[in-house]
Amino acid sequence: MGTLLARNADVLVTMDPARRELRGAGLYAVDGFLRQVGPTAELPASADVVLDLRGQIVLPGLVNAHHHLNQTLTRAFPAAQDAGLFDWLTAQYPAWTRIDAEASRVSTLVGLAELALSGCTTAFDHTYLYKNGNSVEAQVEAAQEIGVRFHASRGSMSVGRSKGGLPPDEAVEDEAAILRDSQRVIDRFHDPRPGALTRIVLAPCAPFSVSADLLRESAALARARGVRLHTHLAETLDEERYTRERFGVRPVEWMDRLGWVAGDVWFAHAVHVSDAEIGLFARAGCGVAHCPGSNMRLASGIAPVKKYMRAGVAVGVGVDGSASNDASNLLLEVRQAMLLARLELGLREEGEAGPGEWMTAREALQLATLGGARVLGRDDVGALEAGKCADFFTLDLGAIDYAGALHDPAAAVVFCAPTRARFTVVHGRVVVADGRVATVDMAPVIERHNRLAAAIARG
Ligand SMILES: [Zn+2]
Repeated sequence: MGTLLARNADVLVTMDPARRELRGAGLYAVDGFLRQVGPTAELPASADVVLDLRGQIVLPGLVNAHHHLNQTLTRAFPAAQDAGLFDWLTAQYPAWTRIDAEASRVSTLVGLAELALSGCTTAFDHTYLYKNGNSVEAQVEAAQEIGVRFHASRGSMSVGRSKGGLPPDEAVEDEAAILRDSQRVIDRFHDPRPGALTRIVLAPCAPFSVSADLLRESAALARARGVRLHTHLAETLDEERYTRERFGVRPVEWMDRLGWVAGDVWFAHAVHVSDAEIGLFARAGCGVAHCPGSNMRLASGIAPVKKYMRAGVAVGVGVDGSASNDASNLLLEVRQAMLLARLELGLREEGEAGPGEWMTAREALQLATLGGARVLGRDDVGALEAGKCADFFTLDLGAIDYAGALHDPAAAVVFCAPTRARFTVVHGRVVVADGRVATVDMAPVIERHNRLAAAIARG
């Protein structure tokens, strides 16, 4: 793998414990791990790969905490453009059941490339439809091609419409088969070592599409094998009505009864929660993937992110989607996290917010770096420090988008319109170079993706 030297950056944001932001700085990496981060003059003079970052800002690679990469095939889907979660899902389930291994591979290439161009270096994906030969393999291989650090889920749905669930029966799987395949992909792909490029997460889809048994069994398997757990929770009031009617409790209590409010779990969304439930998350150590773009798109609500932060709950940022965003742009999502938290202040009835209640640009960046690393259970990414992974991205501070904002470059990258990464590096490998994906020729992939998307929509 060799050595990598990045030098002469105008600004380097470390996200280290002192939150240092260095001028005229760079980093030096050996075999994918950072050896030195500091002023250019103190770094080695050469390396196998040398990047000159004059005019650029360097940031720790962003961590995407929730996504459905296969949904890039149904972005702006006509029947699902103007609908809340349940109607939006119902309109798309038939198309999603037609996704096969090839469509999964190609959509994963597209979504991960888009993420890498927005500064993402570690991505979690929540796939829960494994029909027509779709498999975890298709996604892991695509992630290896693009070069993004990948946490794949073996997601699942087991309760179809005939048993009181939301998805059609043809979209769900047999529970014994789900658990067998979960075991198989853990054996084949899960790498617990520091610097791992591939990990597995068990991720039953949501309270309205999986059974209590499957949630319990998935948790038992995950805990026996040391992998993390994830699901959607408290995303909309539709879901809250569903768990109250069917199980007699709110979504968080339902999860708590099944052993799912715990330190090895993070929930996507967690919008509709009480103060007591936030306290429960904090005590249990479970985390949240905040997906502001999707929550606005589907009119789901505003997650209480500042309350989570004050309580000490780990919060990461996810683009979600890609049919509910409809972008895989994580830097854009960081901006939306900051803006949506501020909108919530303006909707309050109890008077003006104090200064500490404003989400700052640096807090938003922290959510998408250190926060995302924490919810994914990683201490080797999310900051630029010796010993951590060489995962970072750069932005061109000469871009028109930042003109007039260079009083504070680290804040400018959140406040101003997001720009494409100039370089994105994952584990010392250059994945984006000069604003283009360097590992895969994307033009034919996009063409293929559009043909597959049309075929899936036609049925
Ligand atoms: Zn989701």
